[in-house]
Amino acid sequence: MELYMNKEKIEKKLAAFSFGQIQDFMTLHNVMHKNNISMADLEGYINGEKARLSKELEAFSPPMEKMPKCPKCGNKLAIRPINLPKGPRNRQGWKSLWHCPAGDCVYERYCHMTVAEEIKKLGPKKRGI
Ligand SMILES: [Zn+2]
Repeated sequence: MELYMNKEKIEKKLAAFSFGQIQDFMTLHNVMHKNNISMADLEGYINGEKARLSKELEAFSPPMEKMPKCPKCGNKLAIRPINLPKGPRNRQGWKSLWHCPAGDCVYERYCHMTVAEEIKKLGPKKRGI
């Protein structure tokens, strides 16, 4: 009896995956086996992480209709996080920055609240648009 599928057959069946991915899977499989982690365990973990990440993404996706307008030019402002800890390069400990995306406008407003907190302040997002 032949124990292994021939190379061409394996290549064809796994064509969607890169060689690196296949190697990663082998490593993952070995680690799972050593630690008694089943495929069902892994699936549960993946689903849990997906749910957590999509919740996080939701918190960071701003309600466009509520985005504040630039006091200088009237464009809708954008916000980005400031990841520098309080220190010589961020003396005030700013955590986020509202800025105007218009090319010829330089409006900026620094905030002590994180992006998520600033977005939360705008209120809930309208559904079904
Ligand atoms: Zn502006």
